[in-house]
Amino acid sequence: DSARSFHQGGGMGGMRRFGSGEKVKPASIYSMFVRIYTHARTQLPLLLAAVVCVIMISLLEFIVPQLTRYTIDEIIPNKLFNKLFLIMCGILGSAIVLGILRYISASLMASIGQRVLYNLRNDLYRHMQSLDVSFFDRNRTGDLMSRVTNDVSILQQMISSSMMQLFTDFFTFTAIAIYMLWIDWKLTLLLLATFPFMILTTRIFAKRMRSSFRTVQESVADVSDHLQNTLTGIRLIKAFTAESYESERFSQRTKRNMDANIQVTRLRAAYEPIIDFLNFLGLAIVLVFGAWLAMKNQMTIGTIVAFIAYLRLLQNPVRHFSRIMNTIQQSAAAYERIMEVLNTEAEIVEKQGAIKLPPVRGHIVFNQIDFAYSSDTSVLKDFHLELEAGKVTALVGSSGSGKTTIAHLIARFYDPQSGEITIDGYSLKDITLASLREQIGIVSQDIVLFNGTIEENIRYGNHHSTDEEVIAAAKAANASGFIDSFPQGYHTQIGERGVKLSGGQKQRLSIARAILKNPRIIILDEATASLDTESEQHIQDALAQLLPGRTCLVIAHRLSTIQQADQIYVLEQGQVVENGTHSELLDHQGRYHQLYELQFPQTDASQ
Ligand code: ADP
Ligand code: MG
Repeated sequence: DSARSFHQGGGMGGMRRFGSGEKVKPASIYSMFVRIYTHARTQLPLLLAAVVCVIMISLLEFIVPQLTRYTIDEIIPNKLFNKLFLIMCGILGSAIVLGILRYISASLMASIGQRVLYNLRNDLYRHMQSLDVSFFDRNRTGDLMSRVTNDVSILQQMISSSMMQLFTDFFTFTAIAIYMLWIDWKLTLLLLATFPFMILTTRIFAKRMRSSFRTVQESVADVSDHLQNTLTGIRLIKAFTAESYESERFSQRTKRNMDANIQVTRLRAAYEPIIDFLNFLGLAIVLVFGAWLAMKNQMTIGTIVAFIAYLRLLQNPVRHFSRIMNTIQQSAAAYERIMEVLNTEAEIVEKQGAIKLPPVRGHIVFNQIDFAYSSDTSVLKDFHLELEAGKVTALVGSSGSGKTTIAHLIARFYDPQSGEITIDGYSLKDITLASLREQIGIVSQDIVLFNGTIEENIRYGNHHSTDEEVIAAAKAANASGFIDSFPQGYHTQIGERGVKLSGGQKQRLSIARAILKNPRIIILDEATASLDTESEQHIQDALAQLLPGRTCLVIAHRLSTIQQADQIYVLEQGQVVENGTHSELLDHQGRYHQLYELQFPQTDASQ
């Protein structure tokens, strides 16, 4: 199951492997908050305003017990009736100001949370775009999608709803603890003796919650991956009447999610009562020892009452914390999944001082290339190939012999393990990726079109092109006929992946897109392999427009498409076994001749 390869070693002893690339440490809560802060930094005024609100909230919360103490110790014994109204105003005034401050800090935090979400999500997407093709080979689309959507929103919820709470509580807790130490340090220390137990309990539960949340989020990723696969493949499912099979597999995934959520809820349900118990223990200590001190006249009743009021204030943050602990652990798990992507570095990078490839003639040389997608299987071994500038070079060979791989290497989707590929004498590693890829047009068998209009899809070849240029490209690709036959012409929506078009129509759009790009180097990877003869003829005509004057690599299964090539290479298991022109190769009576005989059995090859 590919799901497993993602998390090799996960949960075992700290280090997790992301794909087969970087090792990622489990994220610390601290680094999570630092990261959040860096994203919130642009919001510094808002953040400061929120912090000021929080400090004022803590101070106000501090005042109310003081008023209580004053009432009991001063007003009642001295019968200060005229002060009662002031006390009333003080408490109500504090309550109103508290409410307003809470409103302000909550709205500020919500907007900061949304900002962080916005920045983080964009960063994540931008970073993903910068990663290599091999990263996307390794990882499942649905999983990556859930990181950008689900995991980022979990983090945002934490920021908007819990982070300020956490901050407020931390501040209140520290201030009150200091004040209580000042009132009566012995009693306070006794009270604080329960805290090591709280911390210990929290650590134990935090670890388990985090790993359960990790499972929850991974199962969300599984669900999203399953959806992504099966919804795009719905026709196949129906054709194989696999609806109930897929529903069953789906429910297995959602069950894993449910089980993990139940586990999390149980942990939380066990954690909160333990913390509550420790809180009660603290209260009992204060009450019993406070009473004892009061009976020995070492403490006033008012101080005990205030002390208990402060104790409640001190315990509030603890109780809050136990409640948001799961949110924090959930965000930490989400943060970990986000960081796994952000910490993955592209392997194909431009070297320092890479130069811009000038417009090329297109002389491409593969020199002693060794290449493998993964360490256990080699695809190209000591491979040589030369594409002459402005000529048509063809590659033939059985499927799996490495033809598409060669196309990938020219566009530098992957780097060879050894050897060098040059264009007009420039090593691919010395030039910028953009200047290389700008000059290459690839038309492949599995056509990629995006949901949108015909016009948008053609214009993908060159976003700055005019309408006239788009139409000219469509004409050259032999596509204008069918486009004009649609009621909405160039504004026709083609559906996801172009589902509303036929195979030949899609292929002609992808050729129009390549024509509009006007690249110096054209790679046709089995561009006509899946088409019927009529569509193929249309496309051959379209290609006749595209090829002249450019360096072309034509990869073909059907030999009929390559007879005109200037040079033909026959590939077997990553090695060139023959090369020459069509007639030379036929004369040679080797592998090419064999393939030719297989495809055209009636034809007498010697003619
Ligand atoms: P061809 O285009 O000649 O049919 P390919 O170049 O696509 O062959 O594939 C050559 C070999 O590399 C095959 O054995 C295939 O299984 C393997 N391969 C192709 N693409 C990948 C990939 N993305 N990851 C791992 N192995 C791959
Ligand atoms: Mg191929």
